[in-house]
Amino acid sequence: MRDLRATRQDFPILQRTVRGRPLVYLDSAATSQKPLAVIEAIEGYYRTSNANIHRGIHTLGDEATEAYENARAKVARFIGAPSPRGVVFVRNTTEGINLVAYAWGRRNVRADDEIILTEMEHHSNLIPWQMLANEVGARLRFVPLAPDGTFAPEALERLLSARTRLVALPHMSNVLGTINPVRAVADLAHAAGALVVVDGAQSVPHLPVDVREMGCDFLAFSGHKMCAPTGIGVLWGREDLLEAMEPFMAGGGMIREVHWDYATWDEIPHRFEAGTPNIAGAVGLGAAVDYLEGIGMAAIRQHEVEITAYALEALRHLGDVTLYGPRDAQRRGGVVSFNVAGVHPHDLGTVLDEHGVAIRAGHHCCQPLMRKLGVPATARASFYLYNVPEEIEALVAAVQHARELFSGVRAR
Ligand code: PMP
Repeated sequence: MRDLRATRQDFPILQRTVRGRPLVYLDSAATSQKPLAVIEAIEGYYRTSNANIHRGIHTLGDEATEAYENARAKVARFIGAPSPRGVVFVRNTTEGINLVAYAWGRRNVRADDEIILTEMEHHSNLIPWQMLANEVGARLRFVPLAPDGTFAPEALERLLSARTRLVALPHMSNVLGTINPVRAVADLAHAAGALVVVDGAQSVPHLPVDVREMGCDFLAFSGHKMCAPTGIGVLWGREDLLEAMEPFMAGGGMIREVHWDYATWDEIPHRFEAGTPNIAGAVGLGAAVDYLEGIGMAAIRQHEVEITAYALEALRHLGDVTLYGPRDAQRRGGVVSFNVAGVHPHDLGTVLDEHGVAIRAGHHCCQPLMRKLGVPATARASFYLYNVPEEIEALVAAVQHARELFSGVRAR
């Protein structure tokens, strides 16, 4: 197994300093850093093979098409998809979920139907369903969370009924870190005749994910959180469902035959990729998949469990720190949200930045969850394969410094 510490050398940005200190990047849940292999793959594509795809009758067009479709095949393998036909390239998780809400939802969800979500939804897996529900007269219901930020499958079972069309949930929460029991959810939902949409934004980059083992019907995730560039993401869907869906957007690249007054659609997945896609982005995503597979997702997961356990323990020891989410690092991903008594998370973030420590502070696109937690915002440190224990120590020292600064302010 590769020593993950050595992966730091693969990420040029980790060599830089911030405010005269080494960069401590603890914001990978927002977006990950990019290894040289990905940067070079994108550059190489533009230097040698750039052309539009699926229409060229020249060498560059063929090469670009091959690179784009190779990336699709790599992604399919990475998530255990039965074939690349179920892999639709989109911009990000948000677009993938919207695609399902429009192309599947508008045709299959009707008045008085129900859509079940959880209380930990990111706005990207909430607002598309709100809009759908409002448009067709359906209702949203929410699986309640226990105080530790988890839910048991029985909590979902109580909400399921013959009215349920869809259950949509995150595989892993971007605030609490909770890893949800997707397989059990899928089994219960399917038994009730509902489909399952998984928001994989936080899980696909960090754990081994297999759509067949998860048993979900759709899975959306973003390239930029898994070492790939921004502007490329994936919606995987069960092929029979995608086959039965109308396009989400229309234009070039998604048709078979066009007449003045009607058109017929291309095969899946091209039917859902109208217009010139992000070819270089897909090439970058393919390179990111190669990179992550080279290290091994199980090794990345193990590393993050260790670093998260270390961070939870260190922050708990500080005192005056409220931690959110499950206590057990095995039940959560590498995301630690917290609040320090007497210090607003935004102030904390600013002081940490002076130490070169990058975290995120705010509602993390989860305003209803913040209300449930009874706070306007949290600070969030999030980890990836390249983080090392010394960076947790830098975080803790910076938090300690902020606390002293603000207790000084209070005392004056
Ligand atoms: N869902 C979750 C759980 C997320 O963490 C994020 C990103 N913060 C998203 C969805 C949305 O991802 P994107 O902005 O790449 O569409």
